[in-house]
Amino acid sequence: MFKPTAIYFEKNIENYELGNELLEKYKDVPKIEIENHNNIEEMRKKSNKEFLKMKRNLIIGVRKTQKFVPNYKVSDYLVPYTSSGCIASCMYCYLVCNYNKCAYLRLFVNREQMLDKIIKTANEADRDLTFEIGSNSDLILENTITNNLVWTIENFKKAKKGKLTLPTKFAYVDDLIGLNHEKRIIIRMSVNPEYIINNVEFGTSRLKDRIEAINKLADADYEIGVLIAPVIFLDNWKELYHNLIVELQEKLNAKARSNIFFEIIFMTYSYVHNAINSEAFPNSIQIYDNNKMTGRGRGKYAYKKELRSEGEEFFRSELEKYFKNNRIWYVV
Ligand code: SF4
Repeated sequence: MFKPTAIYFEKNIENYELGNELLEKYKDVPKIEIENHNNIEEMRKKSNKEFLKMKRNLIIGVRKTQKFVPNYKVSDYLVPYTSSGCIASCMYCYLVCNYNKCAYLRLFVNREQMLDKIIKTANEADRDLTFEIGSNSDLILENTITNNLVWTIENFKKAKKGKLTLPTKFAYVDDLIGLNHEKRIIIRMSVNPEYIINNVEFGTSRLKDRIEAINKLADADYEIGVLIAPVIFLDNWKELYHNLIVELQEKLNAKARSNIFFEIIFMTYSYVHNAINSEAFPNSIQIYDNNKMTGRGRGKYAYKKELRSEGEEFFRSELEKYFKNNRIWYVV
C-alpha cells in the first residue's frame, strides 16, 4: 500500500468529492498547498539523485484542459484522464519527458467533468469510438489509491456506445472482476522478460502476476491486449523474448489465448533518461547502447533501422508460431 511522504495540493480540490476523500484518506500525511500542479518550484529544483524520493510524494489538483488527440493505433483518441506520472520507476518511461517535472504521480479530482466529455463525444459520434485513457499514467496502479478505474467503468455505462482502453504493468485487477463492463473496456497488459522487469521496470508487477491478471480479466470477459513493450535489444534479446512468448503460450488460459491481440513497441530513449538514470540508479544495467541506437533529433534515440527490421521479423515469426490466430495490431 502506497503511503506518500507528503501531499502537494491545490486548494480548489476541496470543491470535489474525490479531493475531500483523498484529503481525509491521507489526513496524517504532511501537506503543502500549491498554486498550480504544473509548476512546483521545489520539485523542479531537486537533483536527479532525488528522483526516487521525489516519486514518494503525491500531487493533487484539478485538470484544467482535456485535449483529445487523434490516434491511429488501438484507439481513436488519446485522452488525458485522472492522473499523470507514476509511482513506479521504469528506466525508459516516456513520462520522464522533462527532467523532474512530470514523472511523479499527479491526481486530478475533477473526474466527473472529464468522463462527461468522453461520454458526450462517444454519444455524438456516428460510429463506436475508442478512447485511450491511460496514456499519461498507469490507471490500474492509480486505482489502488483512488478507486477511479472502478468508478470509471461503472459510470461509463452512461455512454450508449464507445469503448475505453488503457495499458498497464500491474496485476492489481481484483477490484475490476465482477464489474458490469459491457465488454466496452479494453485492458492491454504490458509484458517483458522477467530479467528486464527486475532490472529496468522498478516497482512494477512480476511477469507471473501479470500473466495471472490477464487470465482473470479474460475469465471476466474483458477484451485483452498484450503489449510486448518496450522491446529492449539486450545482447541476448532473441533468447529472452523467445522464452517470454513461450511462457505466455504455456501460462495463459485457453480463453485468454483465443482472444488476445498483440502490440509490439521497440524502446526509444533520450539524453534526459540517461542523465536521470545514471544518477538515480548508478548500479543499474545499461539500456542505452550507442552501437544499436541512433539519434532522431532533440536528444532522442531509436534503434537503428536494420535492428528494427530484424526485430519485426523475429516477433512476427515467433507469434505466428505460438499465437497463430491472434492479431498483431502493429510493430513499431
Ligand atoms: S509503470 Fe508505466 S507509467 Fe509507471 S514508470 Fe513504468 S512505464 Fe512509466
